[in-house]
Amino acid sequence: MSIAASNDALLDAVFMREALCLADEAAACGEVPVGAVAVHSGRVVGRGRNVREGDRDPMGHAEVLALRGAAQVLGAWRLTGVTLYVTLEPCAMCAGALVNARVDRVVYGCADPKAGAAGSVLDVLGEPRLSHHPAVVGGLLGDECGERLKAFFRERRGRREGRGVRETR
Ligand code: ZN
Repeated sequence: MSIAASNDALLDAVFMREALCLADEAAACGEVPVGAVAVHSGRVVGRGRNVREGDRDPMGHAEVLALRGAAQVLGAWRLTGVTLYVTLEPCAMCAGALVNARVDRVVYGCADPKAGAAGSVLDVLGEPRLSHHPAVVGGLLGDECGERLKAFFRERRGRREGRGVRETR
């Protein structure tokens, strides 16, 4: 690996760790732990975490919030030059938003076999009939990202069983 390439990999990990911090913040608020950061020219221009429960917003996914933040900071909806880091493979809604925002690159942590739209269930990001195709890197710090989710659902299940409520998800 060249020095430039290893620097890029190092930077990717730094930004994914920032997304993981946002995922932890979500978990602390009782939200499914997913976090995202949008990066342009080496600096974070948008941050987001899952807010679906607190905001009662079906579109309150981490990626959507990070994209909105980036658009505010950069002053444009077209987010050319942006890399979006997210701890979980984007769903169809978020993958659609990423394509519409024309981001350059999407880096995600763990795959989502139930809803992932970067190849797991659908491949919106790689769909050849769409006009924009961000570069996609999957599996960065995937174990750490996945462990957050597992721990969250394990704890929630435990609490429900403790109350005699059946898990429905
Ligand atoms: Zn989503």
